Amino acid sequence: MLPRIILKPGKDKAARHRHPWVFSGAIARIDGDVRPGSGEIVRVMTADGAFLAHGYYNPRSQIAIRLLEWNEAVSVDESWWRGRLRDAIAARRDLFADPQTNAFRLVHAEADGLPALIVDKYGDCLVIQSQAAGIDAVKAVLVDELNAQLHPGGIIERSEGSARELEGLAEARGVVSGSVPPTVEIVENGHRFVVDLNEGQKTGFYLDQRANRALVATHARDREVLDCFAYTGGFTVYALASGARAVTCVDSSAPALALLAQNVALNDIAVDRVSTIEGNAFEVLRKFRDQGRSFDMVILDPPKLAANRSQLEKALRAYKDLNLLAMKLLRPGGILATFSCSGAVSVAAFQEMIAWAATDAARSVQILRRLSQAADHPILVSFPESEYLKGLLCRAV
Ligand code: SAH
Repeated sequence: MLPRIILKPGKDKAARHRHPWVFSGAIARIDGDVRPGSGEIVRVMTADGAFLAHGYYNPRSQIAIRLLEWNEAVSVDESWWRGRLRDAIAARRDLFADPQTNAFRLVHAEADGLPALIVDKYGDCLVIQSQAAGIDAVKAVLVDELNAQLHPGGIIERSEGSARELEGLAEARGVVSGSVPPTVEIVENGHRFVVDLNEGQKTGFYLDQRANRALVATHARDREVLDCFAYTGGFTVYALASGARAVTCVDSSAPALALLAQNVALNDIAVDRVSTIEGNAFEVLRKFRDQGRSFDMVILDPPKLAANRSQLEKALRAYKDLNLLAMKLLRPGGILATFSCSGAVSVAAFQEMIAWAATDAARSVQILRRLSQAADHPILVSFPESEYLKGLLCRAV
């Protein structure tokens, strides 16, 4: 018999609506033995004894249970995990068929019914990232199924970062199957990029911006562009390939800018159209303002400035600071492509922040498009947290 976890009265609403997280404060008691940190499968019940869902449990985490299966008759066993993985892969068939793109997300965690699991494909290599004990427990099965389905040259694990700390888990990284070269070359919408799978940020590349890079680039022709938080040049390469006159790239990471230079060269773009600045974007933008510099297009793609709701106010001030500076640098009719990847910042709050920045910059700002994450990073309607990337393509009159 699986252990049963009984929720407190009135604490079952989110689970009924298929939100996949149960917080530790919602738990009344546990029937049966659970080994701490094992991530084992439990039955989650309401206070009056009705079955809610199967999930995996980690008493060390504030997100004590992540729900997996709402059908009581279906048990979460090895074949269940293999089936969910096959479903996620099957959902990406259009991307597998796209000859212009060979790097994309195969599993987007909760939104693909596989909480805390990320799997990204980079050409012939896969990167997996586990952010919970329940995924660690089935890692061997997942790796085996990935090999059976996709026959990759190698699979590397990048289970690291603050999410694992919050789960009470140590870092786990390294090749788990086959062989993985230190860098791989991928192609995205026909553009070539070198990705560092061992040391790169996230799993190596910001795959969630693929569609936005293509759209933003359609506005880049003949423009002088400032790519702030440029990383390895995702937006820069697209913009240059679409005829941008020149791109100035700002990032605080020297290794990222080194790869950016490599990526520009890889796409046969004249290097004299690109200049890079290693530094803090907040300071660089302020300096540009003081120098009276101006651009026809500014891209702002900062890292997650709000890790959670408690940091929201402070983060919104930082976002506003950045966007206000960017608007001041824009020539009349200039384009601002601005993003937030903080799940805690809502679409509405983001747009309101832009409105305040426009007021303070004394500019009229039009929204040309609302932007979101690429479709291989789906948004689960019962899990608003999965809508993390938001952006606005604006024109400053
Ligand atoms: N636009 C990129 C992804 C940006 S991710 C792409 O399309 O690939 C955020 C980037 O911001 C990272 O490269 C990180 O190194 C950089 N970064 C973080 N804090 C910064 C700061 N204060 N100033 C400049 N860059 C920063």
